[in-house]
Amino acid sequence: MNGLTVNEVTKSFGATRALSGVSFTVQPGEIIALLGPSGCGKSTLLALIAGLDAPDRGEITWEGQPLAHIPPHKRGFGLMFQDFALFPHLNVQDNIAFGLRTGGMPAEDIHRRVIEVLQIVGLPSFARRDVNTLSGGEQQRVALARSLAPHPRLLMLDEPLGSLDRSLRERLVGDLGGILRHTQQTAIYVTHDQEEAFALADRILVMNAGQIVQAGTPQEIYHSPATPFVARFLELTNVFDGEVKIDRDGAILISPLGEFPLSTSVSPGAVHALLRPDQARLDGSGACKIHGSVAEVSFRGNWQRLTVMVGQTSLTFDFPSSVALPGRGQAITLSLDPEQAIQLFSQQSS
Ligand code: ATP
Repeated sequence: MNGLTVNEVTKSFGATRALSGVSFTVQPGEIIALLGPSGCGKSTLLALIAGLDAPDRGEITWEGQPLAHIPPHKRGFGLMFQDFALFPHLNVQDNIAFGLRTGGMPAEDIHRRVIEVLQIVGLPSFARRDVNTLSGGEQQRVALARSLAPHPRLLMLDEPLGSLDRSLRERLVGDLGGILRHTQQTAIYVTHDQEEAFALADRILVMNAGQIVQAGTPQEIYHSPATPFVARFLELTNVFDGEVKIDRDGAILISPLGEFPLSTSVSPGAVHALLRPDQARLDGSGACKIHGSVAEVSFRGNWQRLTVMVGQTSLTFDFPSSVALPGRGQAITLSLDPEQAIQLFSQQSS
């Protein structure tokens, strides 16, 4: 068995169940994102894998070998936190060399490895720089170089970009993904930001309340969220209740937004429904129409977000900026094809 296996891991702190029967694998070279809201158990899971704490139940193995009795420093795993704290009294190369020295690497190998990792993170001329003079992005790269230097079998990154401003974060997430892929670094990347997870991960594990609620590629998760929680977490917020009825003409979704014909493969009964924000059109084509009034149009650069009130329900839709939208307070008619635009969840899923 290759890579990391987490099998039915459970962990409580007093009355708080932080993790409940969590199972997944990480294959060599794979980048996994753990994505979920604050308090869902992401950091607890990393601490158990790192060996900083022990599960109450379940098992964690590396290449089939149980890790339970292996202390953190013998696991060969690296950790990089949001607050990655470079040593302020050491320059860049000594920051990177620190862990290698304590690990007993010969001096000339250390020198070679420091040069190599600085090259990898794109800071080849920074070896002698005072870390106090680095920009936020440069500090983050040095911290990454320090984490990569000992060749960790698994690198765990806990919100490593969390303290940086949004534009820097967007730029660095691409660089970081490139570096991890280039070095074929097996990695677990913890974040509550779905865009970071989408940009970086081969596979995303969406967590909620101590459980993995969906696992899949970024495309699978985005196009087919498993529950209304996952949909809302991905900012697919047009979730509403409805009822599927089957009549002579086929299945129909009856909802506060109107009635939508559906494919016949659905079962009758109460459902939650997701209306995808990128599937509405203004051209009058499509099998269904939604009538409402514009509550807001928010410009986002090359796209814009339209908020529409349909009765008491607020819906958001995304359009390219080139599309001319009616102004606030004006009536609007949106067309859609239910087959592409509507996804149903059973009433039991939350
Ligand atoms: P964040 O994104 O805010 O860091 P998280 O998803 O990493 O959150 P955890 O830090 O793993 O979440 O916490 C999961 C739950 O376990 C929370 O309810 C938290 O309060 C609780 N918890 C974590 N560590 C401890 C502890 N040492 N003692 C008591 N409760 C804890």
